[in-house]
Amino acid sequence: MKTIILEQPGQFRLTETEAPTQPGAGEALVRVRRVGICGTDLHAFRGRQPFFSYPRILGHELGVEIVALGANDPNLGLKVGDVCAVEPYLNCGQCSACRRGKTNCCQNLKVLGVHTDGGMREWITVPVTKLHKAKSATLDHLALVEMLCIGAHAVRRAQLEPGEPVLVIGAGPIGLSTIQFAKLAGANVTVMEMSDKRMEFAQRHLAIDQWVDGRQEPVPQLQALLGGELPTTVFDATGNPQSMMKAFNLGAQGGKLVFVGLVQGELSFQDPEFHRREMTLFASRNATSADFAYVIQMIDEGKINLDPWITHRASPEELITEFANWLDPERGVVKAMLEF
Ligand SMILES: [Zn+2]
Ligand SMILES: [Zn+2]
Repeated sequence: MKTIILEQPGQFRLTETEAPTQPGAGEALVRVRRVGICGTDLHAFRGRQPFFSYPRILGHELGVEIVALGANDPNLGLKVGDVCAVEPYLNCGQCSACRRGKTNCCQNLKVLGVHTDGGMREWITVPVTKLHKAKSATLDHLALVEMLCIGAHAVRRAQLEPGEPVLVIGAGPIGLSTIQFAKLAGANVTVMEMSDKRMEFAQRHLAIDQWVDGRQEPVPQLQALLGGELPTTVFDATGNPQSMMKAFNLGAQGGKLVFVGLVQGELSFQDPEFHRREMTLFASRNATSADFAYVIQMIDEGKINLDPWITHRASPEELITEFANWLDPERGVVKAMLEF
């Protein structure tokens, strides 16, 4: 079967590998149809993904079709031919986090396509419990589900109230998915972004309520938009340490700050500012099965228009030559999609 291997930073190879055989108990053999490309893949290609080893088969945002099923729980309702999204977070089921249902931050977590070989190949075997089937979502949509779950999970962590003033910092794909689910939660969403291209995309396709220019001082802009007040929940989806440290000062008294993006290294904050606000700080990592079910339901119900998100496409052959170009911000990539 066709397989794309990231041999070392900057070097993909399209090759043939042996296809997996029949699935074992609790497993499904799936045909990979779509692979969404995300920041993690770009970091791995650049050689900047920590705790990453080469060679590696990338691909964790997968739209797949079930080809064969091993013995499994009939309550899952899976059958050959179903199209599914894959929850790529392979958790141990035993650690303290798993026992408390926090499978997204399992102590022994292995993410498919990051810590183990992923979906950039025609067939792959996955645990049936990690398949989430859709009613009407297309394969393109299903390959966007994992990315959407990152935003959905962050929004669920924050327990937003309808009408609540919310600020989302950063309108890259993770910011966009956060905006999307904050809107669905009924929040009044302000977006802060430094790139005109990204801001324009968010305004055009996500019906955001208002935005502030990240290149200017944000507090006066927020106060002007919010009747002199500050947002009660702030999401930072930049993965930029300066932005994340400044975000401590952008929320209202008694408010919440959610770090959706992450950085390698230390962040610091002024404790008096933090305490004065009695702020609650959240990290948000990956997503759970409940987030996958919710996101797929929202897509099936037509609550999210995903068509504009996919800006670039490639076959396995094209990916080898095109991938490096997707790193160039001038290309305006929102989501690139590999089609098998
Ligand atoms: Zn991803
Ligand atoms: Zn675990």
